[in-house]
Amino acid sequence: MDCLFCKIINGEIPSNKVYEDEKVYAFHDISPAAPVHVLIIPKVHISSANALTEENAAVVGHIFVVAAKIAAQLGIAENGYRIVNNCGEDGGQTVPHLHFHLLGGRSLQWPPG
Ligand code: 5GP
Ligand code: ZN
Repeated sequence: MDCLFCKIINGEIPSNKVYEDEKVYAFHDISPAAPVHVLIIPKVHISSANALTEENAAVVGHIFVVAAKIAAQLGIAENGYRIVNNCGEDGGQTVPHLHFHLLGGRSLQWPPG
């Protein structure tokens, strides 16, 4: 499949891996917006949050559990962090493979732009 993140999962495009299991893959964002900026993605191709169904959405709960583990591993669990999903054009989604940003390591502003 001609999808950037599918290619990262299968190793066709290199990435700086943080975590992997049978369902998800996590790696450092190439253009970090915070001291910790990790992307967590399902191994199955889901194009966006709009494509979630009762059949494929269980992976989202797993991604949040993995995010908490990675946050602890990278030392940001105690101070806190943000998990972000951008959906569609207005949401700022640039890669059409569902992904969650794990951001931390500094005080984050709210609301986002
Ligand atoms: P979006 O804007 O779709 O929510 O997030 C896409 C993210 O993917 C961006 O933060 C961008 O920096 C990151 N990204 C795009 N291409 C690559 C890549 O080839 N490798 C890595 N590690 N991150 C990428
Ligand atoms: Zn994909």
